[in-house]
Amino acid sequence: MISNSVDCLTISLNFNSTDMHIKHSGVNAFDKVCANIERFLKAKRSNKPKTIIQILDIDDNVPEMVTFKSFWSKRINSNDTIHLRPFCDFGGTVEISQYKDKKRTGRRYPCEQVFNQLMINVTGDCFPCCMGITSDSDDSLCIGNVKYKSITDMYTTDSKVQVIRNMHRMDDLGSLNTCRACGTWSVPSNIFVRIGNKWY
Ligand code: SF4
Repeated sequence: MISNSVDCLTISLNFNSTDMHIKHSGVNAFDKVCANIERFLKAKRSNKPKTIIQILDIDDNVPEMVTFKSFWSKRINSNDTIHLRPFCDFGGTVEISQYKDKKRTGRRYPCEQVFNQLMINVTGDCFPCCMGITSDSDDSLCIGNVKYKSITDMYTTDSKVQVIRNMHRMDDLGSLNTCRACGTWSVPSNIFVRIGNKWY
């Protein structure tokens, strides 16, 4: 990765202690994983890839956040980041209340996936996000099938994907049942600006 100049690497360490690592991942390898990350950071120095080290935003991790940040801040360089990763419910298909007591209360903003993702399943159905493939039971996010429609046609000005994007921009998820039940919109930080009644 270093010699091939990979741009960015996200490391989902997710926890800050052996106990939490065993409890949630079922593997007793926390020390080994940390040692590997430290070796990697030393080897790349200030070079690529930009490295993001994540800890999961779950209740069990709350007492560990400051220590996690303090420990890894001393080891990363100025291009790297420590990221508090919101817990994802995979389009509302995974119950996460036992991990995260309080739901996010901040204002919902558009899901960036509908602006930068295209997923195609094994039958050729296309979706503007990865959650659509696994959880779109009512086809509200299916934007066409590559057997019958070109990808270019799926993205024309008045296509379904443009309608979906606009619904996210207008805070009007209406018939987008999968989106309404999904918390993945909050995983990346908000990159949108709200002007009037619309996100840009
Ligand atoms: S909110 Fe969820 S279901 Fe809707 S576009 Fe984003 S990832 Fe897909």
